[in-house]
Amino acid sequence: MTKRRILGAEVVATGAELLQGRTLNRHGYTLGGLLVGVGIPLQRETVVPDDVTLIREAVASALERSELVFVTGGLGPTEDDVTREAVAAVTGRDVVSHAVADAHLQAYFAKINREPTAAQCRQANVLAGAEVFMNPVGIAPGQCLTLENGRSLWLLPGPPRELNGLIKTAVTPWLAAQVARADLHQRVFRILGHSESRVQDRLRTEAEIPAGVAVAYCARPGSVELRFHGPEAAVNRLTDWVREQYAGDLLNETGETVEEVIGRMLTERGETLATAESCTAGGIAERVTDVPGSSVYFVGGVVAYANAVKMRDLGVEESLLAAHGAVSEAVAREMAAGVRARMQTTWGLSITGVAGPGGGTPEKPVGLFYVGLAGAAGSQAVRFQVTGDRQQIRDHGIQRALEVLWRGIKISWGHSR
Ligand code: ATP
Repeated sequence: MTKRRILGAEVVATGAELLQGRTLNRHGYTLGGLLVGVGIPLQRETVVPDDVTLIREAVASALERSELVFVTGGLGPTEDDVTREAVAAVTGRDVVSHAVADAHLQAYFAKINREPTAAQCRQANVLAGAEVFMNPVGIAPGQCLTLENGRSLWLLPGPPRELNGLIKTAVTPWLAAQVARADLHQRVFRILGHSESRVQDRLRTEAEIPAGVAVAYCARPGSVELRFHGPEAAVNRLTDWVREQYAGDLLNETGETVEEVIGRMLTERGETLATAESCTAGGIAERVTDVPGSSVYFVGGVVAYANAVKMRDLGVEESLLAAHGAVSEAVAREMAAGVRARMQTTWGLSITGVAGPGGGTPEKPVGLFYVGLAGAAGSQAVRFQVTGDRQQIRDHGIQRALEVLWRGIKISWGHSR
């Protein structure tokens, strides 16, 4: 079979619940990720309720624009499941019972000792001439219609488990067999400590963006996700530029979060971490432990608000607190060193600051915080001043603390423990 190039795809997601704040639409996200991996850009997603006319219109106009269209949902047994009928109207095909799908349905109900109702039997109906793919985890099969004009139209069930099952067993092999991979490559970079507009300015003024390369920016907490999409050689040229320009701030090229990268680095090196938190009350520990497997390297944390706790549980000197105050570089350093010593870890990470809204002074305003890091080479603290409400300041604090740790681990590469 000769493979063909597909220049663009669309998704029509059906379901009133997707438009009423009841269910988060995930299918465009899932299919978009799959398609970009084989070099097909997902160009549009339309969401429509369970209404024959609206589904019909959406599918008809998607087929006018795109060579490959996925329609999701509405293949179930209830009367609001009208996708088959809507697609039949667009394509002029009949809806017919499918012997293999019916046998699959009967076997499914036999296994649970039930008789299928007439409505449930509708799920074995397909569009005449469609290629039919059995549902590995449910009843309604996936279907792919090849239309007279060469366009391909997929019908997939709505439940995410079923859609994902059919993506694995039917859509992915179909794409591999049918579609010639376009010279369309993607690279993703996560850059820390720069705003998206600054990254864009620099890229536009200093790098030459080759024709055919699409650039996308996405602001993430404390970082920018920069994405190139285009011919391989051109994307590689831009990749070299990013690596050179952002060497020290380039978190990764995989889309991982800072806590995932930290987790990987600590695991690889057999190192451990403990935290001492004041203004974030365990928020750093929470982010660190969001990563599966973090118990290998995360030993524990101390939430130390009162000075008495900073002294008793972290060994911060009373004189230091009296001389500099709890929110200070010296105290942040001592907190990090203290938790590291007490928990006998490779790294101690601390934070102390003023999250507000009260408690600020001219010298120590709301939004001021210090992040301390202690390691084999000693301890240091970094001052930050940010704006925002209490939650935003705490989120900044958590993010900056993780960045300080990431940079510390990176720099110490090669140091002994
Ligand atoms: P069923 O046999 O369950 O009726 P169906 O193919 O008719 O399957 P729907 O009725 O549209 O699919 O949806 C079934 C379930 O899948 C619902 O819980 C729905 O919220 C969920 N679902 C449908 N579409 C999406 C979507 N785009 N994103 C996330 N969930 C979805």
